[in-house]
Amino acid sequence: MPLVKIHDKSFETYLSEETISNRIDELAAGINKDYAGNRPLFISILNGSFMFAADLFKRLTIEAELCFIKLVSYKGMKSTGKVVTSIGLEEDIFGKDIIIVEDIVDTGKTLHDFLPQLLHQQPKSLKIASLLHKSEATIYPLTIDYVGFDIPNKFVVGYGLDYDGLGRNLKEIYQLV
Ligand code: 5GP
Repeated sequence: MPLVKIHDKSFETYLSEETISNRIDELAAGINKDYAGNRPLFISILNGSFMFAADLFKRLTIEAELCFIKLVSYKGMKSTGKVVTSIGLEEDIFGKDIIIVEDIVDTGKTLHDFLPQLLHQQPKSLKIASLLHKSEATIYPLTIDYVGFDIPNKFVVGYGLDYDGLGRNLKEIYQLV
C-alpha cells in the first residue's frame, strides 16, 4: 500500500476517493429526503470541512444555503474549559433549519462548547453532519445526525484534514502508520 509522507510522519490509505464519494452520495440522499420542502442553512466549520462541504453541497437537490465559519478557542483556558467562539457567522439563524458541517468529531468538545451559542439564537432545528466520527474518543455526548464513517481513534489526514498545515489536498483519507 503506497505510503504518503507528511512532515516527519508516514500515512497509509484508509478511505479511498470512491469510498468517500459513495458515502457522501448516501448522506446527501438522506438530507434531500429529510429536508424536502425546506431550505436549510449549512454552516461549514473551517478549515477542515471545506472539501466535505463542497462535495455534499453539490449533491443537494433541495434549496439550501451555505456559509462558512471558523471556531476559535482561547488558549490558556484549556485546562479550565476553553471558550469557543465563532468568526464569520453573519447570518441570522433565528427560525432556520441549521445543519452544521464538520470534518471530524473527536472528543466532541469543540461542538459541545459551540452548540449552546447557536441554540441561544433560536434556530428552528439544529443537526450535525460530520464526515468522520471517532466514537471511541468521544467524551462529550453529542448526537451526530449524519455520520460518514465511524473511525478508530487514530490520527487521519487528507480530504481537507491536515497534519500541521499539510495534507489537506489529498483526495483520500490517510491514517497514521
Ligand atoms: P474535538 O473537539 O471533537 O475533540 O476535535 C475536533 C477537531 O479536532 C476537529 O475539527 C479537527 O480539527 C481536530 N482533529 C481531531 N482528530 C483529528 C485527526 O485525526 N486528524 C486531524 N487532522 N484533525 C483532527
